[in-house]
Amino acid sequence: MAFYDDTVEVMLPAEQLQARIAELGAQITQDYRGKELTLIGVLKGSIFFLTDLARHIDLPITIELMGVSSYQGGTETTGEVRVTHDLSRPMHGRHVLLVEDIVDTGLTMKFLLANFAARGPASVKVASLLEKPSRAKVKIDIDYKGFVIEDRFVVGYGLDYGDKYRNLPFVGVMRTD
Ligand code: 5GP
Repeated sequence: MAFYDDTVEVMLPAEQLQARIAELGAQITQDYRGKELTLIGVLKGSIFFLTDLARHIDLPITIELMGVSSYQGGTETTGEVRVTHDLSRPMHGRHVLLVEDIVDTGLTMKFLLANFAARGPASVKVASLLEKPSRAKVKIDIDYKGFVIEDRFVVGYGLDYGDKYRNLPFVGVMRTD
């Protein structure tokens, strides 16, 4: 009996996550062969996806972390994003892959894409484990997408509820009963 059994229902089991991430890693390996690739993990939600994905990329990549936090107007994000942790190296001339846990409204990714464009990289692409298209406020092209999910609040595998539940090996939904 695990601590989350009573509160969380499995949506995407660990095996399914790992199989898809292996496929994405193989695709990225093909696409970036011979190039200087930097993975940028967006804190904190992407860290599990980032480390598993990185282990499936057969290239000498570098890894950076970026912290962002969106301002809330009530319960909805306002779309205004603040950088809470910046990169340790310049990205000029590098191939950048932004790694996110989920693209929901798309406002965070829109901010990140504009922010990175200004740093003069050779290219910028997006990898996201999940996408909730029904909630999109802006269109984001996700180059490497794990799963499209319906509009439910998910936790686990990096995704939190009150900063907890990130350490579940699967993606789940909170039980409402
Ligand atoms: P967006 O700016 O696309 O609306 O969402 C950005 C952030 O909101 C995501 O990186 C994630 O941290 C959070 N988020 C969006 N949907 C969910 C969800 O279903 N569960 C959790 N735990 N976080 C979410």
